[in-house]
Amino acid sequence: MSDLMSAQATPNSEKLYARAREVMPGGNTRTTVYRKPHQIYAWRGDGCRITDVDGHIRIDALGNFTSLIHGYGNRQILEAATRQLEAGTCFGMPTESEIRLSEILCERLPSVEQLRYTNSGTEAVMNAIKAARAYTGRPKIAKCEGAYHGTYDPAETSQDASPATWGDIDRPGSVPTAKGTPQGVLDDVVVIPFNNTPVAEAILRASGNSLAAVLVDVMPNRAGLVPAKSEYLAMLRRVTRELGALLILDEVITFRLGYNGAQSRFDIDPDLTTLGKIIGGGFAIGAIGGRAEVMSVFDPSKGQPAVPHGGTFSANPMSMSAGIAALEELTPPAFEKLEVLGDRFDQGIRACFARHGIKGQVTGLGSLRRVHLTDAPLSDYRSTFASADGAARVSALAKALFDEGVIIAGNGLMAFSTAMEDPDIDDIVRAFDRALPEFA
Ligand code: PLP
Repeated sequence: MSDLMSAQATPNSEKLYARAREVMPGGNTRTTVYRKPHQIYAWRGDGCRITDVDGHIRIDALGNFTSLIHGYGNRQILEAATRQLEAGTCFGMPTESEIRLSEILCERLPSVEQLRYTNSGTEAVMNAIKAARAYTGRPKIAKCEGAYHGTYDPAETSQDASPATWGDIDRPGSVPTAKGTPQGVLDDVVVIPFNNTPVAEAILRASGNSLAAVLVDVMPNRAGLVPAKSEYLAMLRRVTRELGALLILDEVITFRLGYNGAQSRFDIDPDLTTLGKIIGGGFAIGAIGGRAEVMSVFDPSKGQPAVPHGGTFSANPMSMSAGIAALEELTPPAFEKLEVLGDRFDQGIRACFARHGIKGQVTGLGSLRRVHLTDAPLSDYRSTFASADGAARVSALAKALFDEGVIIAGNGLMAFSTAMEDPDIDDIVRAFDRALPEFA
């Protein structure tokens, strides 16, 4: 640990946490950001750095869990949001900004003809599932074990599956994440293994004509941030078409993999796509997009729609305006820059692993990475799960890095931003260099 950070005192954070514990369970709102022995409170962000309430500055290599692709204080987003703030933050009327954001997204995403907005990725996934059920008239949803798609009951099923609970061809693997999930919900979720083409295909075929949709993320973070095999995605597309089910692609995180989204990078043609995170330019957002024929389930112009969808703050012009500015800044050269930053990190971290004799590896693509402290081959959730010891050590590594001045997720997830330059990546690698020796 560097002298600077080991000497860090956090009296202001401690005082805030003492107040927080009185009025919020566990003293905070998001399980993912809970931290022992107490929270560290952010004061402000500049570029790719966050200053906490005690004045400590850290490089933010997570970007609010992958949502801040331009870091903090991006000039264009700031100006767009300020203009909108002055004009009004939300109305019980639509604004032109939602049309413009939709035009940009439809132009970039080959499978998306129409969109609707929500306030989070969770709600986007929920509405995509409802749309698939309404469109097909069927009840069941298939999802990959270990994959996170937000907290809607069916979408979070089998997120923490273990060998005792994961499924196989003759054994359903649908297990609750939240205690109290009704059995009826679990019965309507078909859990398939990620990247295991023959077993997943057999399980899907066994659901036959009760399957409304398969929900898939091409590179699920919590399942290892390992890219889906092309044969696996091709099977999902083929089998859903044969069974008359929809394919829902969850691009809430992976839309940041390219100008035309992960669907172009992975050459996959979904019926529905869910979005969130970066498309709001740092404001709360989610979106469901897809073929006009499927999206017509939301259309109120001919009477009560098949899926009524609202939301007091859905399509609010703050998120729309900031999202437009963020996407306009996300040009092909911006994506090239993010790829270069990712490659630079890979080279640096691999040299670090070698220097300290660490059995480690990095998964991910583009501007997304996940650091693992195992050299066992990782191909899916099950192989990632097998390295439980590695996972506990990655969590300890994330804490050590925090003290060294770099923020990554407790599972090793990292997201680079256009606010970073080569020296920032080098600073991140140097922090790893200082933190890693104790993990040899
Ligand atoms: N889908 C994926 C793949 C996600 O990673 C997340 C959040 O991390 C969600 C959906 C839910 O998005 P939100 O946190 O905006 O509800």
